[in-house]
Amino acid sequence: MRYFVLNFLFSLKMSNFAALMKITEMETLDWSNLGFGYRRTDGNVRCIYKDGAWGEVEVTKDEYISLHMAATCLHYGQDAFEGLKAFRGKDGKVRIFRLEANAERLQSSCDGIMMPRVSTELFREMVTKVVALNERFVPPYESGASLYIRPLLIGTSAQVGVNPSKEYLFVIFVTPVGPYYKAGFAVNNCVIFRDIDRAAPFGTGRFKVGGNYAAGMRASYAAHEQGYACEIYLDAKEKKYIDECGAANFIGIKDNCYITPKSTSILPSITNNSLMQIAHDMGMTVEQRPVPEEELPTFEEAGACGTAAVISPIGRIDDVEQGRSYVIAKDGKPGPVLTALYNRLRAIQYGDVADEYGWVTVLE
Ligand SMILES: *Cc1c(COP(=O)(O)O)cnc(C)c1O
Repeated sequence: MRYFVLNFLFSLKMSNFAALMKITEMETLDWSNLGFGYRRTDGNVRCIYKDGAWGEVEVTKDEYISLHMAATCLHYGQDAFEGLKAFRGKDGKVRIFRLEANAERLQSSCDGIMMPRVSTELFREMVTKVVALNERFVPPYESGASLYIRPLLIGTSAQVGVNPSKEYLFVIFVTPVGPYYKAGFAVNNCVIFRDIDRAAPFGTGRFKVGGNYAAGMRASYAAHEQGYACEIYLDAKEKKYIDECGAANFIGIKDNCYITPKSTSILPSITNNSLMQIAHDMGMTVEQRPVPEEELPTFEEAGACGTAAVISPIGRIDDVEQGRSYVIAKDGKPGPVLTALYNRLRAIQYGDVADEYGWVTVLE
């Protein structure tokens, strides 16, 4: 009896201690200096596809997944993911940016590598659930930080033959990430490598699949080693047109025109899609067409766009092998058009301006 009482008191103390530790940990989270790394949160959500149907959504604290060593995702790359963000507004409310568009892009990736589609309803249910579960990890408005949401879909059945998996795991985790620009919106330099391709014209470049990242890892590593912010891929067939900037789309600005490459190997960026809409509504002409490298010197401004940074303005692009260098931001500063587009999109994400386009899901 005495043992039980002591044990009970002890466990009570331990749980108090754990709760206290949790609070202290949150209070000491330095939101502005989070960077872009994984941080443990209060849980993740999962759903399993089996016997031709998606099952029940499960919530877990477990950060690990148990996989068969012959799972198709490991050997044959049946792996697609998404990346979106939740923001806390001045009003304290949490806003998730364009979750339907991310659901649709995941569906396209599913079709692309023969995985069953996750419906927009299931995607919405799971994203809102995981964000609500981790509400205390959505950084405060003033920090400029946000909650990154990472949905991942993988083929899990044990197979040795190359065939689509019969079973799948869809998991969504979140992690708080710091503001991309700690020292304010600034320009970055990029490099063109002609000897590494990310994707072929009719390959998987237009799907958000892990394999594309493996294909580009050598280029992205070399770019960073050489002091560049990112690598620029030219079209794989002719090496003539701009395809993508690392894991971001390219934007060029001139004569009140927003120009972005069109190609079958580009991942359709939701940030780019949103910026095209905003540019159009700001009275700009929007052109989505092949952009030859020779056009680079004619741009008044250029940038890379994606969820991580929204826009990363480009200062200079070096084509080392060809011995050419294109200085775009002559004064080394972001131009007025990209700055205005950036500010407008951020204002929508944080709820500073009205969400005219229905892009934002406010967490209830
Ligand atoms: C995710 C990604 C982007 C950016 O897409 P967003 O929806 O804007 O985040 C661009 N290019 C590649 C290759 C990507 O994987």
